[in-house]
Amino acid sequence: MSKEKKTRTNLVHGGTRRSQYNEVSEAIFLTQGFVYESAEAAQARFLQAGPDEFIYARYGNPTVAMFEERIAMLEGAEDAFATASGMAAVSGALMSMLRAGDHVVAARALFGSCLYVLEEVLTRFGVEVSFVDGTDLGAWSAAIRGDTRLVFFETISNPALEVVDIAAVAALAHAVGAKVVVDNVFATPVFSRAMEQGADVVIYSATKHIDGQGRTLGGVILGTRDHIRKVVEPYMKHTGAAMSPFNAWVMLKGLETISLRVRAQARSARKIARALESSGKITRVIYPGLPSHPQHALVTRQMGKGGTVVAFEVAGGEAGAFRFLNALEIILISNNLGDAKSIITHPATTTHQRLPDAQKAQLGISPGLVRLSVGIEDSADLIADLHAALDAV
Ligand SMILES: *Cc1c(COP(=O)(O)O)cnc(C)c1O
Repeated sequence: MSKEKKTRTNLVHGGTRRSQYNEVSEAIFLTQGFVYESAEAAQARFLQAGPDEFIYARYGNPTVAMFEERIAMLEGAEDAFATASGMAAVSGALMSMLRAGDHVVAARALFGSCLYVLEEVLTRFGVEVSFVDGTDLGAWSAAIRGDTRLVFFETISNPALEVVDIAAVAALAHAVGAKVVVDNVFATPVFSRAMEQGADVVIYSATKHIDGQGRTLGGVILGTRDHIRKVVEPYMKHTGAAMSPFNAWVMLKGLETISLRVRAQARSARKIARALESSGKITRVIYPGLPSHPQHALVTRQMGKGGTVVAFEVAGGEAGAFRFLNALEIILISNNLGDAKSIITHPATTTHQRLPDAQKAQLGISPGLVRLSVGIEDSADLIADLHAALDAV
């Protein structure tokens, strides 16, 4: 399938490999290994595997390859490597690029497990990590040094939805020869233009919008062909966090509908954010797609749309937030995001429970803050559910 086709066409057909049966729906090649026609053929493949030649499922598999090609087309990246989870993608992307003595600059507002990898794992191997406020370009500029090897940030932070200026940080990083690695989950691959704006490596937890129906774990690292095949692949294939063929098939099917789902979710999220802004029980609404977001101009330039997640502060702190969550009837209390089902989380007592209060305050995680991942239900039903639950506060 040529890259000139439109995105939604590629999402349905891109990367497809058909077996001798010419099946319509992509096959699940649930196999660890592949048979060689001769000893010589095995020798030749181990010496240099061709584009559609496989050796072992930890290195690659036809169903996984279909997923990698399709997501690379969506992102506009030359190549991709699929991983067992989003965290396998984050840790693999970083570990494959870094060595002892390297310096990394990262935004402070990170997913808890990303923070663990940077603070606890990398430093144990002699990598120095400096944390900055990701929205403060002066802080990035002051922290990036001649020996900075890479910068890392979530393009939209969880849960306070702060946006990092990819192009501006990339200009600072590239000036010293550092690479830009971004965790782009909240921007979604549908709205992302991260590579065009200067990211060298883009990472997704495919568990989120790519699966989109809350079934399987997965992740993906995207970049140039050279980077994926020469830096990422050797590290990933020998350390083992491969995506299973079954999960790759679920993700492939997720990609067929991702544009329809995510655009519908973003439209609903915007309607919901606007409806919440007029509620007296809510003290603050954070949605990148609303003019009230402090970085609305940057959001418009960087991704055009506001995404599928809305954060807001319920009056009455933790007690108010709990009463509100417990009164919801359609929206589920859970901690995933990007699902077809709307899901709500209270970060201070769940995903970010372990952070000291001072750090929570610094990251905007107040006792009343909730994070809503908007699903594909009818937005009028969701707004009615939210209003009814707010009446209980
Ligand atoms: C969920 C998430 C991850 C981790 O992904 P898993 O698939 O759960 O391993 C990493 N970064 C961000 C921003 C996430 O939301």
